[in-house]
Amino acid sequence: MGQSVNYSELFSQLIAKDDKINTSMLTFLYYMFPRDLFIRALSLLESNDMMIYILDNENSPDTAAKRTETLADESISKSETNEIDTKVHAETINTQTNNELKYMNDTLRSIYKDDDFKLLYRLIVKSNDTTPIYVYLKNWTCSCNEYCELFHDSISSNRTESIQNKLITEIDDIDEFKDDHFAQLDIHSFSRQYYFQFDKVMCPHLLAYSILLRSSLTVLEHFVIRKSNVLLIRINNIDEWLKLHINIVV
Ligand SMILES: [Zn+2]
Repeated sequence: MGQSVNYSELFSQLIAKDDKINTSMLTFLYYMFPRDLFIRALSLLESNDMMIYILDNENSPDTAAKRTETLADESISKSETNEIDTKVHAETINTQTNNELKYMNDTLRSIYKDDDFKLLYRLIVKSNDTTPIYVYLKNWTCSCNEYCELFHDSISSNRTESIQNKLITEIDDIDEFKDDHFAQLDIHSFSRQYYFQFDKVMCPHLLAYSILLRSSLTVLEHFVIRKSNVLLIRINNIDEWLKLHINIVV
């Protein structure tokens, strides 16, 4: 599994023009990944367990702004009750109105283009265990057991070699630069390209979010807007955002 293949490009062809899954591409990608990873990632994408939480206190439509105001007032009035279990005032975005639809499109576009990770968003998968699974495409890490075990195995072999040498491919020749963003680290580096060696450490969560966010806007919109399989949940103010983290960590 070399890096010469442009996985981003292949993922972007997964959704055909009629907005259905492109079955030939699905079959092709199935054979590109070991351990049924691709099928497991696709099942995850359709499971309704994947979420994108975004802190968005600037671009919300009017309704959301009003809602934030109300929630903020509520927080103040409840602040003395010490309720750590304060419900997370997140609002699942559904395409109820044109305003909402436009907002959702804009948000997805911002997330998709957020190569420098300026937006505050978190990728979280609902799990049967008590703890949700956190996925970080930026660093190619995931909190699931499969990832941890593979990572441990990879760094345990040949202890004299650095972790960087073991797990990261570095390209310093500009003529060798690739358009592929799959498993790419430090996307904004101009002088070098870095890729995580995903054939050594990968789980269905990283693959599923890569299909969403390292392919094309069409694929992202397919799963989030048109199929509503992946939930985009916006948090309207920083207090709520912090509470979300507290509630998840506790
Ligand atoms: Zn994982």
